[in-house]
Amino acid sequence: MKLLRNPVVPPGSTIGMLGGGQLGRMFAIAARQCGYGVQIFGDPQDSPAGQVSDRSWPWSFTDYDALRQFAQHVDVVTYEQENIPVATVETLLQYVPVFPGPELLRASQHRLLEKTSLRRIGIPTADFAKVTSAAELRQSIDDFGGDAILKTVTLGYDGKGQARVRSESACDAIWKSFNVSEAILEKVVDFAHELSIVASRFADGTCNFFAPVLNHHENHILDVSISPSPLISERQTSEAQQIARAILEHFNVIGVLCVEFFATHDGQLLVNEIAPRPHNSGHLTINACRSSQFEQQLRAVCGLATGDVSMQTPAVMLNLLGDHLQNQSASGWQKVFAHQNIHVHLYGKSEIRSGRKLGHLTVIGEDVVAAERLGRELRAGLTGAM
Ligand code: AMP
Repeated sequence: MKLLRNPVVPPGSTIGMLGGGQLGRMFAIAARQCGYGVQIFGDPQDSPAGQVSDRSWPWSFTDYDALRQFAQHVDVVTYEQENIPVATVETLLQYVPVFPGPELLRASQHRLLEKTSLRRIGIPTADFAKVTSAAELRQSIDDFGGDAILKTVTLGYDGKGQARVRSESACDAIWKSFNVSEAILEKVVDFAHELSIVASRFADGTCNFFAPVLNHHENHILDVSISPSPLISERQTSEAQQIARAILEHFNVIGVLCVEFFATHDGQLLVNEIAPRPHNSGHLTINACRSSQFEQQLRAVCGLATGDVSMQTPAVMLNLLGDHLQNQSASGWQKVFAHQNIHVHLYGKSEIRSGRKLGHLTVIGEDVVAAERLGRELRAGLTGAM
């Protein structure tokens, strides 16, 4: 059985990754560059991460025999999504170190627990209420002034499992359609903009912070991220860092997390969500920073020193969803590749579906307004219909 300390895991060792999505893929690329082996658990070899890893274990996260065997083949384990059962991490911990541990994972997969924990340590969030029946929903809607967002407590992301509730009369039908025993009702935040910060904590307790990122969502899915943004003040930057540090320390995280915020019109930051892993809004760090969010994850989970997260250039990231890549045009790609300041990232997903994240473009350049305009124009040109 392996020791449960946080030893230095040097290059040449093998890292276990729970989940085979694009975040696992970009982690595996960073890990391989530094000489590590990577094995994926929970997805097949042709998954985005499996394609660039040494081995995939396509078993369920509740297959404890398979988990035990997997643990014998890796030196440390991390994860790329928050819907990994806590019991999976606890099982693996009997055999191999897992970073981050289960504390933040547990909170980040349950919206009520997440917001309650944050409030308890003095971190502001949107007002919320626990709802367990249509009657409670009616009552809370009334308390929130007749307009709020109902969300499932688990398995919600990119706007999934959410409904806007605008009247008491709609409550019965919406509650029935949710078909859950509990949910969270959140006050609608009239935000000026949304931002996020990616932060890391290392074995010696050191933390580092990437520059905060301004985020635009379309249909609740992240569309464009910009950093630095003139809309994010210095005060907000230092407040975002303080909040991220408080969360990293409270949940004893060794690894990377992302905190997403609403910035209100009077400049206040409210936490919307925490991801216990690198985040879509941090993808621009690959091309804009000296050391990316995935390299920080590698360094943190392997007990290595912190990396330099300073920005080398302003950058804009534009997601490529299925909608952008229907009927792809070769001439559109040619125009993208003709620009020396655009970096293309595709995740190796063969099925093109509306809303599915298939890749992203990062446009670097001093003028983020021009970079965003160029990125949007070139992205629109990728669809053959244009
Ligand atoms: P979520 O899945 O909770 O991160 O929500 C996805 C997106 O929906 C957020 O990034 C916001 O654009 C929007 N949203 C979620 N909750 C709220 C809220 N309480 N008030 C206003 N907008 C929200």
